[in-house]
Amino acid sequence: RAKRQGHGRYVFYRPEMDANAHWMLQLRNNLHRALDRDELHVYYQPFVDVDSGTVTGIEALLRWQNDELGMVSPVDFIPIAEETGLIIEIGQWVLRAACRELQRLHARGYDHLRVAVNLSARQFRQTDLVAQIADVLAETGLASRYLELEITETVLMEQAGATLDTLHGLHELGVAVALDDFGTGYSSLSYLRRFPITYLKVDKSFVDGIPGEKGDLTITRTIVAMARSLGIRVTAEGVETAAQGKWLRHWNCEEAQGYLYSLPLAADDLEWLLCNHDMLPVSGEIGTLADN
Ligand code: C2E
Ligand code: MG
Ligand code: MG
Ligand code: MG
Repeated sequence: RAKRQGHGRYVFYRPEMDANAHWMLQLRNNLHRALDRDELHVYYQPFVDVDSGTVTGIEALLRWQNDELGMVSPVDFIPIAEETGLIIEIGQWVLRAACRELQRLHARGYDHLRVAVNLSARQFRQTDLVAQIADVLAETGLASRYLELEITETVLMEQAGATLDTLHGLHELGVAVALDDFGTGYSSLSYLRRFPITYLKVDKSFVDGIPGEKGDLTITRTIVAMARSLGIRVTAEGVETAAQGKWLRHWNCEEAQGYLYSLPLAADDLEWLLCNHDMLPVSGEIGTLADN
C-alpha cells in the first residue's frame, strides 16, 4: 500500500512512521477536501500606524478547522498545499474572500483600510498571476490600491527575469507588493532598488530582541533607515510588548502588527474591534504607550 506514496493522493500509514510523519499524512489526506467542506476560514490581523495607533490595514491569514485534526496551523498545511498544488485553488479562494471582506468593510465606512494577502512561491510563479488578480479585483469591485501582496525574499530571488515581469505587471495594475519576513532570507539588497516594492515587513525574529538585544536593534534600525531612504514603507511584525512598540516608533518604523495590538480575528470580531477602538492598543497598562 505504501507503494503509491508520492504518486496518488492518498498515502497510508505504516507503523514505522513516527508521530510527525503520521500527522503530516493525515493533513495531506484531508486538505484536498477542506475547501469543499467549508473548513477553511480567513482571519484578519490589523496593522497599525505606530504614531497614532489607528488601524491602517489588515492581513488575511488562513485557518483550517477540521473535526478530527482540530485547528491546523498554516505553518503546517501551507507547505502541503504548496507541494500538492492545492495552493493555487486555495490561494484564489483566500484572495477573493479577502477582497470581498475589505469591500464590505469599505461599505461600512472603514474605507481607508487596505488588505494584505500572502502569496506562496508556487502562486507567484504562475504566468497568469497578474491577470488572475485583475479578475478578482474586477469581480469584487475593489480598487487595486487597497490590495497588497506579501511574498518572501526567497520568492523574489527565484527566476529573476520572470519575477521582474510579474512585479512590473502588479505595479502597473496598482497593487502593492510587500517583502514578508524580511531579513531572514538572503536577498541582494540591490533588488530593493530595482524592483517595485512598496513595503518591507521586518521579521518577528528581530522584533523579539527589542529592546534588549543589541544586534537585533542594529539590524532593525538599519532595515528601517535603508527602506525609508529608498522610499519603501516599513511594517514590524510580531510586536508583543509596549516597549517594542515604543522603540519602533522612536526609530521611525511606520507601521506595526502583533499581539500587542490584536490577534488575527474572524471577520465579525475584526469589525467589532474597528467599531469600538479607533486606537490600538486599548487595554489597560498597554494603553499608556500612546502617552509615552
Ligand atoms: P506571516 O505572513 O509572516 O504571518 C505572520 C504570522 O505571525 C501569523 O501566523 C500571525 O498569526 C503570527 N503573529 C502575528 N503577530 C504575532 C505576535 O505578536 N506574536 C506571535 N507569536 N505571532 C504573531 P499564522 O497565521 O500562523 O501564519 C503563519 C504563516 O503561514 C504566515 O506567516 C504565512 O507565511 C503563512 N500563511 C498564512 N495564511 C496564508 C495564506 O492565505 N496564503 C499563504 N500562501 N500563506 C499563508
Ligand atoms: Mg505575511
Ligand atoms: Mg510575515
Ligand atoms: Mg513572519
